Amino acid sequence: MHKRTIPAASLVLAFVFTIGCSRPTRLSLQDRNSEITYLDNVRETASCDPTAASSNRALPLFSKPFAGDFPVANMFDHDKPSVDYNGSVLTMCGARDANQVDGHDGYDWVMPEGTPIRAVADGIVMFAGLNPPGYCAQLGRIVSAIEVQLRHRAPDGTGFSTLYGNLSSVRVVVGDVIPAGATIGLSGNTGCSTAPHLHFSTYQDRGGSFIFIDPYGWHQTASDPWEADPRGAASVWLWRDGEAPRFRF
Ligand SMILES: [Zn+2]
Repeated sequence: MHKRTIPAASLVLAFVFTIGCSRPTRLSLQDRNSEITYLDNVRETASCDPTAASSNRALPLFSKPFAGDFPVANMFDHDKPSVDYNGSVLTMCGARDANQVDGHDGYDWVMPEGTPIRAVADGIVMFAGLNPPGYCAQLGRIVSAIEVQLRHRAPDGTGFSTLYGNLSSVRVVVGDVIPAGATIGLSGNTGCSTAPHLHFSTYQDRGGSFIFIDPYGWHQTASDPWEADPRGAASVWLWRDGEAPRFRF
């Protein structure tokens, strides 16, 4: 049923990914909190002007997950994603914001349903489809989100995973080897969500454990609480030059 021509470059990628991972299965990622997007919380600016140069660490790997610009509703909570709820989000700029979703583990971009969503790097599809249904307290009903999960390997060997949530449909199947920029699905409003948006989480592979990190890195001299936490990891600026979704437009 599912036939496609696989270019030679993809076969090389498939070989690389096959080592130690003979059959793609959904990765056991760090647990996510149930979440909701607040549309009245759109952030068009960050409190600093984050760049690769201002980040504590940088590894140019990702391209933009969509074409164009969309406002950010929720950022990555460095204090702390999905494990600590202290009433505010601590951004990569060191700003505390009580209006964002506390404990948020990625970035939410508000966009119309049906916006094409792109793979941020060459990778393999580990999951694509409906999550198991779960109760969403904010909506007061059982919901199921459509998600895509990809696995990537940087040239230096570092492993990452990316998760694209709240989609309306998927355009890939498990095991597909895809290049950066390939359309993997369309944005939507599925799952525990009140408004159309893309939820995007990034994980770093640490010995087979996939830990949330901020793909915009960390831009303060003070230590990053998530890096200092035994459950956490150091964030890394992962965008290639000119590919980071902007905060000002
Ligand atoms: Zn989100």
